[in-house]
Amino acid sequence: MSKYWKEIVKNIEPYIPGEQPGDKRYIKLNTNENPYPPSPGVIEAIRQGTNENLRLYPDPNCEELRETIAGYFGLSKEEVFVGNGSDEILAFSFLAFFNHGRPVLFPDITYSFYKVYAELFQVDYKLIPIDEEFIIPVEEFYAENNGIIIPNPNAPTGRFLPVDAFIEILKHNADSVVIIDEAYIDFGGESAAVIIKEYPNLLIIQTFSKSRSLAGLRVGFCVGHKDLIEGIRRVKNSFNSYTLDRLAVAGAIEAIRDENYFQETRSKIINTRERVSARLIEMGFNVIPSKANFIFISHPEVYAANLFHGLKNRGVLVRYFKKPRIDNFLRVTIGIDEEMDCFLDIIAESLF
Ligand SMILES: *Cc1c(COP(=O)(O)O)cnc(C)c1O
Repeated sequence: MSKYWKEIVKNIEPYIPGEQPGDKRYIKLNTNENPYPPSPGVIEAIRQGTNENLRLYPDPNCEELRETIAGYFGLSKEEVFVGNGSDEILAFSFLAFFNHGRPVLFPDITYSFYKVYAELFQVDYKLIPIDEEFIIPVEEFYAENNGIIIPNPNAPTGRFLPVDAFIEILKHNADSVVIIDEAYIDFGGESAAVIIKEYPNLLIIQTFSKSRSLAGLRVGFCVGHKDLIEGIRRVKNSFNSYTLDRLAVAGAIEAIRDENYFQETRSKIINTRERVSARLIEMGFNVIPSKANFIFISHPEVYAANLFHGLKNRGVLVRYFKKPRIDNFLRVTIGIDEEMDCFLDIIAESLF
């Protein structure tokens, strides 16, 4: 605490990311990173980009990257915005679309950054309680509001809502911007990007951090009606002209182009997820059905906190949230098969 801090800085509770330990080599199943390396083409593009042109500013509008993403979704580049990670796009969206006064709605159990942004930007928010099975009650999002954010699949539960549910939410909210945070959509869900043209109030945010193995590069993007995109661009250009550097742009373009590698790695993760989930269910775990690259699990007889510490002592990091309703759950990122076997072995020993 410092007397020089503004009131808002004294009062905010910043987001706490999962540990990135420097002390020893853990099997890291705690921050939903992709266990597979980025496509070799991505590394090569970044290498190629490491040249004397780094003295020049990058393209402030990232035209080529936006065109590449637009092509992938069958959209125009005016319907695409790119940012320094999707967290940045979320922040810009709060500034662009959410007023003071009526609340922004999001689930009570969800990505905790939404609350942090609401507090930082002084936007009222209302938490919509999800049920005991962590299913999002769609009708509760028909309440009066000033904007809606829902991750799909939800984090940290992994639960997926079909596009039809969002169509209902969009129809009941023609006057608000509805944001779907699709950080994990590539692990088995169906993107609502297909309905962008029908709903001018729909914004879909995705990231290269998870399904494209590029958490370290910091690239996210969103797709939506060109007027929404223009709104976000106005905020960005009032904040920082160059949020993406030349190397990030070069790597991201290649990540989209290498479709085969993307398909191969995401299917491997989906297969591993299904195999590990089945094994945990055999061991008596409640495994919430997941369409993400993580699973959310709880055991009726062993406390999650104890499992968390037991795993950590044996070199496996998972995520434990000491928060109401979910403090007996662990969120476990899907790693490669060998890592998951090691995780399962330790779990089996802790139970018996
Ligand atoms: C990981 C994650 C993000 C942020 O990803 P970036 O690395 O900033 O692109 C956004 N939303 C959810 C729900 C996430 O889990």
